[in-house]
Amino acid sequence: MGYLALYRLFRPTTFEEVIGQDSVTTALKNQVTHGTISHAYLFCGTRGTGKTTCARIFARAINCEHPVGGSPCGKCPTCLKLAEPTNMDIIEIDAASNNRVDEIRELRENVKYPPVNGKYKVYIIDEVHMLTDSAFNALLKTLEEPPSYVVFIMGTTEVHKLPATILSRCMRFDFKLVGQQELESLLQKIFDKQKVFYEKEALSLIARLGEGSVRDTLSIADTCVAYADGKLTYEQVLKAVGSMDRKDMDLLVSHILSGDIKGIFEDVSHIASMGKSFSVVNKEVAQYFRDMAVIHTCEDFAKILSYPKEILDHIEKTAKTYPISTILSGLKTFASLEQEFRYSENPRILFEVTALKVATAHQTTLDELEKRVTTLEQKIRDMVKP
Ligand SMILES: [Zn+2]
Repeated sequence: MGYLALYRLFRPTTFEEVIGQDSVTTALKNQVTHGTISHAYLFCGTRGTGKTTCARIFARAINCEHPVGGSPCGKCPTCLKLAEPTNMDIIEIDAASNNRVDEIRELRENVKYPPVNGKYKVYIIDEVHMLTDSAFNALLKTLEEPPSYVVFIMGTTEVHKLPATILSRCMRFDFKLVGQQELESLLQKIFDKQKVFYEKEALSLIARLGEGSVRDTLSIADTCVAYADGKLTYEQVLKAVGSMDRKDMDLLVSHILSGDIKGIFEDVSHIASMGKSFSVVNKEVAQYFRDMAVIHTCEDFAKILSYPKEILDHIEKTAKTYPISTILSGLKTFASLEQEFRYSENPRILFEVTALKVATAHQTTLDELEKRVTTLEQKIRDMVKP
């Protein structure tokens, strides 16, 4: 099967096509309909949640001659002109690569010229938190007294890095992570349109791996579709994204939970020989512990987890062998490690030490229990002594 750039195929041109951001799109549509346009907007949120997409739609909508329900019509002369890449009225700046004061000064010069086609000249500044301090100061001067035809839409993944002086001048919108269900229905729609055949579980797995980002989900889907031969299966998705083999995973988790130190050393050595990333392995182990916690606590776990039956049976068997307290403490340890992998020079050792820590923590509890039982037994013996 040939390569499909799914992310390029899915480019919403109206607010209705944007998924998972209803509160933001409703508010923006209302502003277009009522003509209450601010001069500066701030779109905050994780990567791939639709900030730039919404900025582009909004930029066209406020210029459109006959907006349809707050979205650009896509047909009027202004919409057609603004769709051309050479248009001078919607200017996109990536602050990650244009973060110097000179570039913002150039922007300030440029702001003086009114729009050519529509009513507004829109500046979309991505990753605005990357600007240097002097660039922020230069930008602030423009934000203080912008010409009536200028609108700034600034996007950021790290809003805490923005100076208060900028924040106070913007209307802020928070983009949330897109839900699993919404990502699944998007994938389903795209796969059906592209005539990609797939297992339902494969689709759920891709959506889960996307972790709330439309961009990541579609880029993982791209990799998987390029990898798949015929029908896209759950196993193929695992292989395409370099996940661990399920049998190896079952074994590793069992060794950790049963406190089998030798087993853990052997598993880690096997994983290393397969060239897997330990940061990914750690994430998958954490996911496994989370799944076991779900099995312990939720009656409809099969529906929540959405695994092929064979895989679910294995996780369920392991989960039911151990108490929830042991599983939760393992989950806590592995999940809290994710950040540390970023700075670790030796991820293998980091993972190994953590696995041993979880394995032996559980062991300590057993030792303690044994001690308490022995004490109790002694007390009972003392009591029944004649
Ligand atoms: Zn239009």
